[in-house]
Amino acid sequence: MVAPSSKCCSLFVDKLPNGSEKGTYYALDLGGTNFRVLRVKLEGTRSSTLEHDVYRQAIPQDLMTGSSEDLFDFIASSLKEFVEREGDISELSLDRRWELGFTFSFPVKQMSVSSGTLLKWTKGFSIEDMVGREIAGCLEEAMTRKGLNMRVAALVNDSVGSLALGHYHDTDTVAAVIIGTGTNACYLERTDAIIKSQGLLTTSGGMVVNMEWGNFWSSHLPRTVYDIELDADSPNPNDQGFEKLISGMYLGDVVRRVIVRMSQESDIFDPISSKLSMPFILRTPLIAAMHEDDSPDLEEVRRILRDNLEIPDVPLKVRKLIVKVCDVVTRRAARLAAAGIVGILKKIGRDGSGGIAGGRSRSDQKMRRTVVAMEGGLYTGYTMFRDYLHEALTEILGEDIAQHVIIKVTEDGSAMGAALLAASHSSYPVDSVQ
Ligand code: BGC
Ligand code: MG
Repeated sequence: MVAPSSKCCSLFVDKLPNGSEKGTYYALDLGGTNFRVLRVKLEGTRSSTLEHDVYRQAIPQDLMTGSSEDLFDFIASSLKEFVEREGDISELSLDRRWELGFTFSFPVKQMSVSSGTLLKWTKGFSIEDMVGREIAGCLEEAMTRKGLNMRVAALVNDSVGSLALGHYHDTDTVAAVIIGTGTNACYLERTDAIIKSQGLLTTSGGMVVNMEWGNFWSSHLPRTVYDIELDADSPNPNDQGFEKLISGMYLGDVVRRVIVRMSQESDIFDPISSKLSMPFILRTPLIAAMHEDDSPDLEEVRRILRDNLEIPDVPLKVRKLIVKVCDVVTRRAARLAAAGIVGILKKIGRDGSGGIAGGRSRSDQKMRRTVVAMEGGLYTGYTMFRDYLHEALTEILGEDIAQHVIIKVTEDGSAMGAALLAASHSSYPVDSVQ
């Protein structure tokens, strides 16, 4: 499983934040449904809560497929408004620039800790003139256009930001997983185990590997005709195969496609609703709501079918069938994500299998506490998904091992982590901070 994707990139992040970071740092988080701006104050000692302010906004749909200049101008303007609102703008000076962590959650070829080029868009973004361009530079240009004197000190993937924050709070954190609009994971690897980094000098002997697991592909993946059609109709066909089976952007549409087929092959939904043929009309939060409808008559399912899909009243038997479809699609996604997590644990020797090789039984072996940082709306907002994921982890690892594996949600972790990484890679000495 850990034969990762072709986009897997080892990063230049070898210096995870350790608590000595000090000062005020900003972060921008772009890559899912929402866009976030954050400001974090660090005191120079590791604290259990970090003082921060955050501003969230949905990304206007037209910006996801427009020009790079429009997108980056929008980001820079939002940042500027935030800085002005927080009253920091007057403190900007020519000799001292604010530093920023930029969470950019798309496949990137990392050139340094603060720069990288965009390999490809995912998750419905498609701005052709951006592909191949250096991302931090584009942001800095837009900030200059808006009169903001800021420097990108760290350019990171969301999974890496999450790992940085997770590790800051709990040093047993060895990996981070994102299951939201898209999906991805990263983990801490010994530098000598990374082929791509040979020849690079690192300080700590460890490195963060961004797997880009959403792009994992294998002919063993349980793809159905619905997945194949979804992929073919997507803006990025033949790409992100694992992601399209797992993440929030796609699950609702897989369910919709099954319902379409049911309505074509039987008369249970007569007359066929034209809404049902609209891609992405059935969003994943709606399938979560149907799946978790615990009313005896499945009233919520009835309401969603009527209000969102214009499917008139169908018998309870049919509503139950729809819940079953949500269940199958969600359970498959959760189990695949769990398999991915176990793949990481295996790779870094935290799956408990070492004991078996050494002739000891799994239960004899002392398994270290192992924390996986987790972020993303699918995991945090969909109880059944979360339950299935945990169930599969226990099933694969066995109870004895699974009890040592802790999945810890890091709220806003990807952005907070980026601010921390900006601080640990700041170009100013710690003592001189604002
Ligand atoms: C992107 C990753 C990102 C993940 C989660 C995927 O579509 O390729 O870079 O980490 O979504 O946001
Ligand atoms: Mg995100």
